[in-house]
Amino acid sequence: MVYDVIVIGVGSMGSATCYQLASRGAKVLGIEQFGISHENGSHTGQSRIIRKAYFEHSDYVPLLHKSYEGWRALEKATSMQFYWKTGLAYFGPEHDEMLQSVQKSADLYNLKIEHKEYDQYTKLWPQFSVPKDYQCIFEPEAGFVTPERGIKTYTEFAKQKGAEIHINEQVLHWESHSNFVTVTTNLRTYQASRIIFTSGAFTDQLLALKVKLKVTRQYLGWVNPNNNLKYNVGNMPCWLMTDEGKEGAFYGFPQMPEVVGGPQGIKFGYHHPGEIFDEVEDKEILVKEEARLNEFLRQYFTKVNRKIETIKSCKYTYTPDEHFIVDLLPDMSERVVIACGFSGHGFKFSPVIGEALADLALEGGSDLPIGFLGLGRFSLLSPMLQ
Ligand SMILES: Cc1cc2nc3c(=O)[nH]c(=O)nc-3n(C[C@H](O)[C@H](O)[C@H](O)COP(=O)(O)OP(=O)(O)OC[C@H]3O[C@@H](n4cnc5c(N)ncnc54)[C@H](O)[C@@H]3O)c2cc1C
Repeated sequence: MVYDVIVIGVGSMGSATCYQLASRGAKVLGIEQFGISHENGSHTGQSRIIRKAYFEHSDYVPLLHKSYEGWRALEKATSMQFYWKTGLAYFGPEHDEMLQSVQKSADLYNLKIEHKEYDQYTKLWPQFSVPKDYQCIFEPEAGFVTPERGIKTYTEFAKQKGAEIHINEQVLHWESHSNFVTVTTNLRTYQASRIIFTSGAFTDQLLALKVKLKVTRQYLGWVNPNNNLKYNVGNMPCWLMTDEGKEGAFYGFPQMPEVVGGPQGIKFGYHHPGEIFDEVEDKEILVKEEARLNEFLRQYFTKVNRKIETIKSCKYTYTPDEHFIVDLLPDMSERVVIACGFSGHGFKFSPVIGEALADLALEGGSDLPIGFLGLGRFSLLSPMLQ
């Protein structure tokens, strides 16, 4: 069988891409080495924050508008919920870099944000125990989306539109020929006009990119809120908080409605460059990360069990500048498309990345504003970073 497009990796970006391609009438094969949603990649953990006042860079905001539209379109098509509008409270000390960048994106794109004084936010959300000198910006349109539920639904929909999805099949290598591409798995060899790499943390095993991708292990913890309804969706926002003197930010979610599935409790994590991923989990690192989450919990939360009940790990794939790579691979006659290096903040973009990748594979280009995510930018970096 010859395909129009083969998608390598049916996870966050791959599932949305298979759906987009199949919806446009392309003959698609998606190949996934594990099952549809699993715990070996980057999408574990029931929820991901979605927000528009983007502190990583304001260039993402137009893509976020499209992504919100994509999630709504999926909800309309399925009569299921994928996006929960809880709002997001950003907390940090005065002159905090994250808060300043949130403000900058909001100003540039006229996004709705609200500044909350200490008295206001402690009254609104007594769940937090935040230092008096912390500032708070609230983004009402933010919330969370659901990775496992999203990936499964996109994949099901892609199948309904005619996509073939193979699971438990691993791509071992690929080759570009003058007017087609071959992909060899542990089971057989396939031929297609184009291929798309959405292989997440495993991309380095398939592609010798000039730019270095760094895969790290990140931890997520769930805590029992002791039946305190204040911690449920509807009573508490998602949140992001810098802890003075520490790199990165802590973040978390209210207790999920049961329909989302996964561990019960409130989930929280630490967005920072974790340790380089090693197949054999280092127990000392696990203990250290758990202690760090527990310490944060003790310091900044009230009236929850001060002990993590479930802990899971998940992978980040960093690019040197922590911005995504979404591009055609150079010198491949527009046959090879790549989307990787989502650097711990990609999931919310799945619908729009799916669209962009389908554009690149089927049209050789996209009208979506993805230029700043191209591979070309790395030639501007010093050789040490490449
Ligand atoms: C702890 C944690 C918290 C996060 N929080 C947020 C957040 O709040 N908001 C947000 O937007 N993002 C967040 N992210 C980031 C987001 O989850 C990732 O950016 C996103 O899931 C990456 O998607 P992906 O498609 O690249 O990877 P994946 O979803 O892992 O998909 C890649 C797929 O490719 C498959 N594959 C790889 N190699 C092969 C092969 N050779 N053959 C066949 N299949 C293959 C893999 O098995 C996998 O299923 C978080 C990530 C983590 C780990």
